Amino acid sequence: TPDSSPSGAAVKAADRAHVFHSWSAQDLIDPLAVAGAEGSYFWDYDGRRYLDFTSGLVFTNIGYQHPKVVAAIQEQAGRMTTFAPAFAIEARSEAARLIAERTPGDLDKIFFTNGGADAVEHALRMARLHTGRPKVLSAYRSYHGGTQQAVNVTGDPRRWASDTGTAGVVRFWAPFLYRSRFHAETEEQECARALEHLETTIAFEGPATIAAIVLETIPGTAGIMVPPPGYLAGVREICDRHGIVFVLDEVMAGFGRTGTWFAAGLFGVVPDLMTFAKGVNSGYVPLGGVAISPAIAETFAKRPYPGGLTYSGHPLACAAAVATIGVMAEEGVVEHAARLGSDVLGPALRELAARHPSVGEVRGTGMFWALELVRDQQTREPLVPYNATGEANAPMAAFAAAAKRHGLWPFVNMNRTHVVPPCNVSEAELKEGLAALDAALSVADTYTG
Ligand code: PLP
Repeated sequence: TPDSSPSGAAVKAADRAHVFHSWSAQDLIDPLAVAGAEGSYFWDYDGRRYLDFTSGLVFTNIGYQHPKVVAAIQEQAGRMTTFAPAFAIEARSEAARLIAERTPGDLDKIFFTNGGADAVEHALRMARLHTGRPKVLSAYRSYHGGTQQAVNVTGDPRRWASDTGTAGVVRFWAPFLYRSRFHAETEEQECARALEHLETTIAFEGPATIAAIVLETIPGTAGIMVPPPGYLAGVREICDRHGIVFVLDEVMAGFGRTGTWFAAGLFGVVPDLMTFAKGVNSGYVPLGGVAISPAIAETFAKRPYPGGLTYSGHPLACAAAVATIGVMAEEGVVEHAARLGSDVLGPALRELAARHPSVGEVRGTGMFWALELVRDQQTREPLVPYNATGEANAPMAAFAAAAKRHGLWPFVNMNRTHVVPPCNVSEAELKEGLAALDAALSVADTYTG
């Protein structure tokens, strides 16, 4: 096994004895013991190195161990490792200022959380209290986090086990032309029909019962479906017309991932609430948050907001955010992701798609891409069925194993692989990863036809 060195074996043994892992059948997993990580790579205890095309869980937007961020965390730890949330603390104030400067439009107040799911929880609580309405609309093919409310608004199979106490959550179909629910053949049709479907859903649910519509600006885990031009602006207009709070979840898409600071900027829309986490500090210390519009902030100007966290705006996490945002600005990471996405990664993935019968569609922007793998390009039958496990999932398992043999750690979700390297990945690293992807797709090809 790759954990054969004495220390690797000990790490693995203690993990297997005592660590309970997320989303897993505990006896059926075989976690790799990781010895270290730097930039776009990590390695095991036997010195086997992997190029990380997953950015962890799409959070190391500036790669692992960036020396300036490590130094900032060390400096903050030396000065003030922790402090309670009710005080004004330099790192917290500065992080909030830097984030608010970059969030779209007039979103100007930042409520800090420990990660993405609790950011979504608080955004929806704020929306319900602000409107006095009970319901929330969310999309199938979405992911909003693992806590009760966040997983209930999620539109993937991980919510099924927690579909209790879901009162007030109504799901709808967002646009996705490749697998259109609306029999659309063009982006324009998909956009118009998806908006009409949302309008009808709202009419039948009762507009005055709906507090919020929550959408990922570009759905991430569910498949990186870039919405057609006009869709998000259309949702904005619908929300305005019905007094519904528009929540954009930028936990995955934010902080440079799409080649802009926030994906909302790509579409010229300003939500009322925007959630973030992950890339805010490259995941070096857990941090998330909600950016809040003046109107919603006003609701809680004289009346207390009924929510809080012991570690809201934790100084170590906030110092990491200040340093990460500084690095991204100084090193032009956002512009780099945009340029490399449009000039190198996008064209290279399309070239792979042209050669591999297993690739049904390539979609994305910046450092945020998905390859939809299929049995047949004409019928678009997915390479593995929805939510497949075990033998039914063998083609995707074989694809992932082949990528790893070629030194690439791939992101795999159902019948898709996502290409989501750090936003500061080099062109040479991208080319190395693309060569490994090419080899792994040849394995996927054997399951087509
Ligand atoms: N929202 C989106 C769009 C996400 O992608 C995720 C995590 O992948 C979450 C929320 C949940 O974030 P966390 O795992 O930090 O709770």
